[in-house]
Amino acid sequence: MPGLGFALETHPGLRRPKNEDAVGHLLTPWGGIFVVADGMGGHRTGEVASRLAVETILGYLKEAEPSPKALLEAFERANARIYQEAQRPENRGMGTTATCLLLDLPYALIAHVGDSRAYLLRGEEFVLLTEDHSWVAERVRQGLLTLEEARTHRWRNVITNALGSFPQARVDLLGLKLTPEDTFLLCTDGLSGVLEDRTLREVLRNFPPEEAARRLVELANEWGGPDNVSLAVVRLPRDLPKGTRPYALPLEAAGGAPVRLKLGEEPEALPTQVLEGRPRVGWRDVLLILLWIVVVGYILMGYFKRP
Ligand code: CA
Repeated sequence: MPGLGFALETHPGLRRPKNEDAVGHLLTPWGGIFVVADGMGGHRTGEVASRLAVETILGYLKEAEPSPKALLEAFERANARIYQEAQRPENRGMGTTATCLLLDLPYALIAHVGDSRAYLLRGEEFVLLTEDHSWVAERVRQGLLTLEEARTHRWRNVITNALGSFPQARVDLLGLKLTPEDTFLLCTDGLSGVLEDRTLREVLRNFPPEEAARRLVELANEWGGPDNVSLAVVRLPRDLPKGTRPYALPLEAAGGAPVRLKLGEEPEALPTQVLEGRPRVGWRDVLLILLWIVVVGYILMGYFKRP
């Protein structure tokens, strides 16, 4: 895609002995795919989980037509693979976050599990697109903790949803129509938990992707580098291709809220079709209505026959 600017960085930070984060990308004829993942588990298992997530998601989407369904299937594949690995005794506790941006220009789809994040800088506006699946974020949503308390809470690293921890994971899916020069930031909590949103915004606004990515890692490390730091910065070109796509954006279909889906749900549950006009009544519906009339009639007859 001419004019698409991007940069990926991953750094162990200053306090952790190893890097359990992973990043990856793939350019495609319709745009590109970018993934960040933050693994967890003892010994080597965290780095294995995040690497498996990135490889599996990219590998699956490489062969697929871009769609919300394909993105979910990629996450499903990654979850199954990591869950299988996690069943070995030496891999107990293995799991990973994953946030994936799929560019299908002029549209973007985002799938997300855990507390890694996707932000969008559009003009002056900088918005967090994803919701953290973490213990503190859930308490903030319930009004039990303030954002400030959540930032320093001792359980701030506890995530409530991960790839590979359960046979099924919950995946948030978002879709949006893009405008020229939109800039995405995908990152692990080693960045978003250390730098404030306004700092992220300032760096993205003022520097091209490569320099912004490098500076963000440096800043996180200047602030102590308490965790592994990983990110992808993706800036769209000035000219976006025009086009339509054969699926409804998850965000549109859900009336503005991200769609929350459990892996393994029937594909029919995916809001990939916008219903047009009135729903059709099929012969099954007619049979059901007839059956209903017969049953109600039978009950009523019994009632009126009573002496
Ligand atoms: Ca982390």
